Amino acid sequence: MTVKTRFAPSPTGRLHVGNIRTALHNWMLAQKHGGSFMLRIDDTDAERSEEHYVDAIHADLEWLGIKPEGQERQSARLALYDQAFETLRAAGRIYPAYETQQELELKRKIQLGRGLPPIYDRGALKLTDEDRTSKEAEGIAPHWRFKLDHDEAITWEDGVRGPQKFDAAQLSDPVIRRADGSWLYMLPSCVDDIHMGITDVLRGEDHVSNTAVQVQMFTALNAAPPRFAHEALLVGKEGKLSKRLGSLGCDAFRERGIEPEALIALLARLGTSMPVEPIAAREALVDTFDLSTFGRAPAKFDDTELDRINAAIVHQLDYADVKDRLPGGMDEAAWHAIRPNLEKVDDVAEWWGIVTGPVEQPAFEAEDRQYLAQAAEALVWSDNPWGDLTASLKQSTGRKGKPLFLPLRQALTGMNHGPDMAELLPLIGQDEARARLRTAAG
Ligand code: GLU
Repeated sequence: MTVKTRFAPSPTGRLHVGNIRTALHNWMLAQKHGGSFMLRIDDTDAERSEEHYVDAIHADLEWLGIKPEGQERQSARLALYDQAFETLRAAGRIYPAYETQQELELKRKIQLGRGLPPIYDRGALKLTDEDRTSKEAEGIAPHWRFKLDHDEAITWEDGVRGPQKFDAAQLSDPVIRRADGSWLYMLPSCVDDIHMGITDVLRGEDHVSNTAVQVQMFTALNAAPPRFAHEALLVGKEGKLSKRLGSLGCDAFRERGIEPEALIALLARLGTSMPVEPIAAREALVDTFDLSTFGRAPAKFDDTELDRINAAIVHQLDYADVKDRLPGGMDEAAWHAIRPNLEKVDDVAEWWGIVTGPVEQPAFEAEDRQYLAQAAEALVWSDNPWGDLTASLKQSTGRKGKPLFLPLRQALTGMNHGPDMAELLPLIGQDEARARLRTAAG
């Protein structure tokens, strides 16, 4: 059986780091087994779903380089859900219920007040035909619940959590369809997983109780449930991520100068027993992907860690990867010289400005000015102008260490630190370098 996974976002908002992680892991799971990865747009909620969010999901996945092999949209599959609904209804697994939200809320309160779990009491199952007719005569349209089989224990072997067992009697029969005929998440998702041939459902552990219900739905629809795996949730260093989700989407990451490969390297390993490493090659991450390494404790997302991985990834980027993002005129040698100093690719402009000039030099003491005048004369061009210059100045002036190097760096770049001068000086060029040394000498 070829592995087939899916990522099923609801287009009711932008993807955030939690969704991105789920998408990534589903993609990796499929890649690892030579299978396929699908995108499913869960847009049955017509009121909250927005088309521009669908576009944004595509754009984000593209930026991340996570390519689905196909896409389905739930809004285009309503006939399938109707069919499944009729099958389940004919089998006595769906029943109409008429309680209002207030009535349900009141029942819950009473149960909780008595120290009982707030499980739906199946009041609707006790209604007679007459009761139902009179409700409908009053203009109350029913919503629909899936009837769990209380005699059938719910079990599955979870890819992350191990053996799972639920008592159906401890769960509420879920509402699957609203009075206006619209669908809630539960049944359409099962129907799609069956029709799309999904073999593995990997999602957040907030779905564990949905899975318990869905296991019975698959069986009621005469289908074998897929394999399930629920990963521990992602939390921020300081607790819940939910407050900051706006700043944890692809646009925000891109604006912050985060490379998709950095985000992927981090999210691939976060919450697993494997170390988070700046691995830019996706195949290497896919090779080590293994659900059995996923921990049960919440995974901690930390911006500083992302920045660290990002810098390390930037240092590995080839000229060809970044060519289109570099300032005009900047060639491969310049990229290699400057790359180790960057935390973000965009910082390159500042360094390139140093190469092309003008630079803002500090005011030098008389002694240093004299030294720099000497340096301007000593500068000769070779394969290694920096090495030659500093060697000859060391000999002629007796300077060493900081007094030898720092005034030169400051005169040539206007800065106290920065790229390796041996790589930078050839980029600045002989005439420009001499001119800078002379200006600094005054
Ligand atoms: N649309 C659901 C969600 O975003 C999908 C859950 C699932 O993967 O089945 O939570």
